[in-house]
Amino acid sequence: MAERQFSIAGHAFTSAKLEPALYLVSTPIGHLKDISIRALETLAGADLILCEDTRTSAKLLNAYGIKTQKASLHEHNEVAQAQNITNEVLAGKAICLISDAGTPLISDPGFPLVRVAAENGVSIIAIPGASAVLAALAVSGLPTDSFSFFGFLPVKKQARLNRLSDLKTHLPTMVFYESPKRTSATLSAMAEALGPDRQVVVARELTKRFETLYRGTAGDLAAQFHGATVKGEVVILVAGANKAAQINPDEWRDALKILMQELPLRGAVDKIAADFELKRKQVYQAALELKDGK
Ligand code: SAM
Repeated sequence: MAERQFSIAGHAFTSAKLEPALYLVSTPIGHLKDISIRALETLAGADLILCEDTRTSAKLLNAYGIKTQKASLHEHNEVAQAQNITNEVLAGKAICLISDAGTPLISDPGFPLVRVAAENGVSIIAIPGASAVLAALAVSGLPTDSFSFFGFLPVKKQARLNRLSDLKTHLPTMVFYESPKRTSATLSAMAEALGPDRQVVVARELTKRFETLYRGTAGDLAAQFHGATVKGEVVILVAGANKAAQINPDEWRDALKILMQELPLRGAVDKIAADFELKRKQVYQAALELKDGK
């Protein structure tokens, strides 16, 4: 293949020369076809591709006939290299950053480079695509309107338990990356720290041949995975804390009492039920008791 070319299913395409910039290019999280045409054009049209591991990325780049020069940028050299790479972009080069899988910087190298590039006024362009966090969240069946991504939990047992205990009252859906060898221990820690009834989803090998979703309570999944050797990559998702379970009853009753002086009874009940995510019947009963001076 000639310079700046790439191929899809045997058909060759040529990329235009790119504007100088740092391009953050997402690559697949498993299935080689999960890459955008724009990502291929960008990788083929760049002067240099910074890879977390050049051998890992060679598989993807070879599959699409991309011959762009490669260099390594990984957790051990990213701080030292950040200014040099920024200078190369400032001197007119188009440089791509990719990681072994998914979106660079998401539990992967790249943050020091992007920070230095931003401080130096370099244009930083996202070429978005796959990331395990969003793929797992979308298929989990857990609420997606509000979620928090925590990357990897601490490896040490007590630190992991402490971190999870701190999250016991966290309301949004929680998303964690985890290594297969710690999955069983982490599920047990979740059952212990968050309670055995908390809803959990394990998303394994997304987009790959053995893609599997396990849904259940923390207690059930901890038992199911106990002592098991998990094969492949996993994302663990945990339902947020139940808001109603955390509210001090005095808090909403006090608010109801005040509101009943301002609004008709039904209006006050509706507002408190909505604001505190409580059952209307429960609030209505409390309103009647307050009205009767109980
Ligand atoms: N930058 C990547 C991204 O955007 O998803 C994540 C890199 S992080 C080093 C690797 C972790 O991502 C794995 O340990 C696993 O938790 C998750 N992961 C990556 N690919 C996955 C897949 N196909 N299925 C499930 N989890 C995956």
